[in-house]
Amino acid sequence: MRPIFQPSLVNGPFGDPALFLDILFERRAMLIDLGDLAALPPRKLLRISHVFVSHTHMDHFVGFDRLLRVCLGRERPLALYGPERFIGQVEHKLAAFTWNLVANYAVDLVLTVHEVTMDGRLLRATFRSRDRFARHDHPPVPIADGRLLVEPAFDVRCAVVDHHTPCLAFAVQEAMHVNVWRNRLAALGVAPGPWLREAKHAVLAGAPDDTVLVAPEGDSASPGERRLTLGELRERALQLVPGQKIAYVTDAAHHAENAGRIVALAAGADLLYIESTFLEAEAVEAARKAHLTAHAAGALARAAGARVLIPFHFSPRYAGRESELRAEAREAFGGVVE
Ligand SMILES: [Zn+2]
Ligand SMILES: [Zn+2]
Repeated sequence: MRPIFQPSLVNGPFGDPALFLDILFERRAMLIDLGDLAALPPRKLLRISHVFVSHTHMDHFVGFDRLLRVCLGRERPLALYGPERFIGQVEHKLAAFTWNLVANYAVDLVLTVHEVTMDGRLLRATFRSRDRFARHDHPPVPIADGRLLVEPAFDVRCAVVDHHTPCLAFAVQEAMHVNVWRNRLAALGVAPGPWLREAKHAVLAGAPDDTVLVAPEGDSASPGERRLTLGELRERALQLVPGQKIAYVTDAAHHAENAGRIVALAAGADLLYIESTFLEAEAVEAARKAHLTAHAAGALARAAGARVLIPFHFSPRYAGRESELRAEAREAFGGVVE
């Protein structure tokens, strides 16, 4: 089954970090990191509902203004997530502009800004254009298992890593897919229909096997009803397939504590986007700047059991030497590097 997320690095491996995650069939997208967004046309920016910011070094946050400008006047709210001090930083960005005319727009743009604290809470504040983007705080909520966002089709988790400042790594996990063997439905004597969608939801929600389903009979001109249990249906006609997992790790010092957090977050990722800023030959400089080398990125991807590694955030000093970074990452990883 086709994954619902279509990820693409907005600025390629050398440009500012920004991963655009288009969501199939939803006319909606999410964005991880807010580097320069000049390469994204307004129609794509307008699809963005959620933005996850690793940290606010300029190359990860400078795209905020462009996104905000395009979103002014749109109905859909915008949710942003970031590390410690993030709400105050968004507040200051907003305070740098004058909003007297925007406050009169017919449509009220609402920003909900979330901040992950070091003690595992999520601070929340809203800013509304109608209110000239004044800050309104809401009570913090605890974060369970790093979960920032839970939707029926996917969830987004984070881990806090050390980049000589708190920095967030993210994992987007699609829900299980439930596939139906149509021919086996016939063998069960039932026909497909809206009941099947409900049955799939029940499976994903963990409903017990003895849940009774009522389905139209399969093979008569004026079908009656047949009762069957969810367990029976699952065993004979359904197949559960894990959804896609995409992990995103950038700007992390290379040390054991970070490695443990990164590997736990990215475990089993189908796609692992991971910074490979320096070659191992420059490991001393990488350590000084709290970045990973391509070798370290490959080793982390291997430890996490990732399927495909996508290295990015290459230092501009390696212009024209991209293949060396990829080769180093591939050698440490031992798997597919894209
Ligand atoms: Zn940084
Ligand atoms: Zn960076």
